[in-house]
Amino acid sequence: MKFYSTNNRDLQVDLRTAVTQGLAPDNGLYMPAQIPVLPEEFFQTIDQLSFQEMAFLVAQNLIGDDIPGLELKRIVEHTIQFDAPVVKIEQDLYALELFHGPTMAFKDFGARFMSQLLGYFAQQQDQEIVILVATSGDTGSAVANGFLGVKGTRVVVLYPSGKVSEIQEKQFTTLDHNITALEVDGTFDDCQRLVKEAFLDKDLRSKFFLTSANSINIARLIPQSFYYFYAYAQLKSQKKPLVFSIPSGNFGNLTGGLLAWRMGLPVHKFIAATNSNDVVPQYLESGLFSPRPSRQTISNAMDVGNPSNFVRILDLFDGNYAALSREISGYAFTDEQTGNAMRQVYAKDKYLMDPHGAIGYLGLKEYVSERNEQVTGVFLETAHPAKFKDVVEETLHSAIEIPSALEKFLLLEKKTIKTTAEFSVFKDFLLKGL
Ligand SMILES: *Cc1c(COP(=O)(O)O)cnc(C)c1O
Repeated sequence: MKFYSTNNRDLQVDLRTAVTQGLAPDNGLYMPAQIPVLPEEFFQTIDQLSFQEMAFLVAQNLIGDDIPGLELKRIVEHTIQFDAPVVKIEQDLYALELFHGPTMAFKDFGARFMSQLLGYFAQQQDQEIVILVATSGDTGSAVANGFLGVKGTRVVVLYPSGKVSEIQEKQFTTLDHNITALEVDGTFDDCQRLVKEAFLDKDLRSKFFLTSANSINIARLIPQSFYYFYAYAQLKSQKKPLVFSIPSGNFGNLTGGLLAWRMGLPVHKFIAATNSNDVVPQYLESGLFSPRPSRQTISNAMDVGNPSNFVRILDLFDGNYAALSREISGYAFTDEQTGNAMRQVYAKDKYLMDPHGAIGYLGLKEYVSERNEQVTGVFLETAHPAKFKDVVEETLHSAIEIPSALEKFLLLEKKTIKTTAEFSVFKDFLLKGL
């Protein structure tokens, strides 16, 4: 399978290049050159397949023979080591729980798949692959845990000192082995700038095989299509048209759903649900895309003012606004609405949503009340509520339990290397310290 750049469909590369480069040289994002529709038979028997089996067939459909079949099977099986159950909340309304992985957020799917792919490519070369990742929380923990112990790879996580929650920090500062955490005296933007400068630096580029693990990498996108099929399989007996509501920030998760739809998954509608960072819902309303600086909210993993995967969504519809807005509806919600939904659903349905999932829930509710259609609604629950313990406890006015998978990180000792936000210091560390 070839992948093209969204800036130039004639610029086509193989999977290895797309994954190790991340961003195309012309600053476009890579997309699969073909998205084959899966055979009828696959959908007829889908509910008899395991999650791993169906994910493998989907991966093979998109990736082709760039990876030998047995190797791809191993990669998929390693990625999917945990369930993604659909849980009934109310009549015709379900949560797709994507938080049963090691760091308890859906980013585990993308990070685990990408780490295995890069590990496979690293085996075929002499040089170690160095992955640089700037994080404000969830990405760093998923990437660090995904790459932990993967031969031929080394991960450097940069994060702003004092600006991530304790539980998030512990998930990427306690791992050792091939994971190094740099605690930067600065902001998240400083961390991102340091990573960007490193990619442009000749000395670093000649010494290291550098790559990034941010959400624009196609290797993180592909596995995000798997669980849409799995949700469909779990709800196959429902018969009503299926609507997915996706709490979105950079829109990688929604793009994964659109890939599944293009592969033939019968989805009636996608809902782009956001917090007050609502540039995509506004685009869906007006046809105008106006990125702007992000605003801080209680669903902070979605505080994105210029969503990077928007160009991929446009590309999937050939830039056709009418076609795009037929398939995707958009709604935005305030922190107050989010908190109210969390309290109501907890009281009425005994289900505890995290602030991100709550926005997905609200998106579905809004859609159903506006359209009055008979549909089966599924919202993506993207993280375990305990990952956002402070916000959740403040919202519910009561204490919540920390699952043992998260608790075990809290008991470990944090190990970081402190550094300033100056590029020369960071560069020196990479040249001498790695
Ligand atoms: C990253 C993240 C999101 C947003 O996903 P995108 O693919 O960037 O739209 C939503 N919820 C949680 C918990 C996240 O960590």
